[in-house]
Amino acid sequence: MLVIFSKVKTNKLLGSMKAQLFAVLILIGSIPMIIFSVVMISTYNQQAHNQRVSELKYHGNMIANLLVSTGYFSSNSNSKEVDTEIDQVAEIYDGRIVVVDSGLHIVKDTYGLEEGKTIISEEVIKCFRGTNSTYVEPGQQFVEITIPITHLETKEVIGVIVMSFSTKNIIDIKKIVENKAIVLTIALVIAVVMFSIIYAIYATKPFKKVTNSLDRMTEGYLDEKLAVSGYTEMKDISESFNHMIARMQKLEKSRQEFVSNVSHELKTPITSIKVLADSLIMQEDAPVEMYREFMVDITEEIERENKIINDLLSLVKMDKTAGEMNITSISINELLEQLMKRLRPIAAKRNIEVVLESYRPVVAEVDEVKLSLAISNLIENAIKYNVDEGWVRVSLNADHKFFYIKVADSGVGIPEDAQDFIFERFYRVDKARSRETGGTGLGLSIARNAVLMHRGAIKVYSKINEGTTFTVRIPLSYIA
Ligand code: ADP
Repeated sequence: MLVIFSKVKTNKLLGSMKAQLFAVLILIGSIPMIIFSVVMISTYNQQAHNQRVSELKYHGNMIANLLVSTGYFSSNSNSKEVDTEIDQVAEIYDGRIVVVDSGLHIVKDTYGLEEGKTIISEEVIKCFRGTNSTYVEPGQQFVEITIPITHLETKEVIGVIVMSFSTKNIIDIKKIVENKAIVLTIALVIAVVMFSIIYAIYATKPFKKVTNSLDRMTEGYLDEKLAVSGYTEMKDISESFNHMIARMQKLEKSRQEFVSNVSHELKTPITSIKVLADSLIMQEDAPVEMYREFMVDITEEIERENKIINDLLSLVKMDKTAGEMNITSISINELLEQLMKRLRPIAAKRNIEVVLESYRPVVAEVDEVKLSLAISNLIENAIKYNVDEGWVRVSLNADHKFFYIKVADSGVGIPEDAQDFIFERFYRVDKARSRETGGTGLGLSIARNAVLMHRGAIKVYSKINEGTTFTVRIPLSYIA
């Protein structure tokens, strides 16, 4: 349990932007400094060695020239002067210089230890054969150089100078530089770590702010706005979020309105039924005719209640998110014919002429039940809000992508300022008339939702006292 918990915690920490930012800053800030120090120190060390070796070679060659020009090996003339020179070089560089003649006898040793002895060293013999060498001890504490002494005319090697010097002081300087570099690197790493912590905290502050704001909104403070300053991206996020919240608030408001409308609409018939029933109860010896009359009214109210409930159920089914589409390929011409057949008798009661104009046969992928409900609501409205002896024209047309249904009537028309609201739930232009005709204010909402579920569009054109035309456009192939 504890292991799982700590693993989750570690994952969360590693995944956090703060930790990653912190790690990146440290890597960028420290690694180049460390690499730089290491490279610089090793380059210095190499350079110092090379310099020392070339200086020693220069002096060695000078001594060799001096030995030849003074005839050091043939006579002992001027040898004191040359000896002093050799001693001086050995002293300055804190080392040992040994001069060997062609018989491998040591003729000069600045340490004075081995003069007169014979030297049998590989380097010296090689040097006599013409290969001068530089030997550097692996730990680089010690360097040995052999320089040939060549006769000016015969170019014959007449002797060898062996120089051995300690490089300890170079190593000492390297150590000092190394220590300084370590101190400097540690100081820099500490500074980088501190800067990284401060910057990582600062840089992730807007995110913390967003989380806090979101938490508060989750607690129910939906009126608060998300106001995050800092990065442009964060500002964009908070702006988009505020838009989303505004939309949610609008939806919540419309939901509350809908619930209160539903309660009100459902209560109205019940209140009427109660009033009718109460008056019958209050009147002790009410005649049978009165009972009959009131019962007819009560039945009408029950029917109205039933219609509202049915319309509400249809609307819920048409909810864009909840509804499931049952798509089949059907003839729209036939579907319209069926609807007309059912609605003509209602129109006939008021002598309203209903005609269907089909411009071509149309077969489309639709949900038959939902589309029928939408179109029949439009045609029912065209009859309901018509004048006696009026007309209703339904037309069907199509192109290669869509089919178009037009429902035009010669009715009362819709005032321009009401046209924006007629698709809203429970909206009625004339409440009294709608109630008279048994309207619930839900018909057009159902129709619009059904059309939208088919990825279609519905529009209204109307002129008061002249008539109304609804146009519906739906794709021939269903787009999921
Ligand atoms: P209702 O059940 O009241 O008919 P609808 O949602 O179907 O509800 O229509 C909303 C309102 O739009 C109606 O109350 C009516 O005032 C108006 N309306 C709808 N269709 C027409 C039409 N063809 N002619 C005139 N007014 C209409």
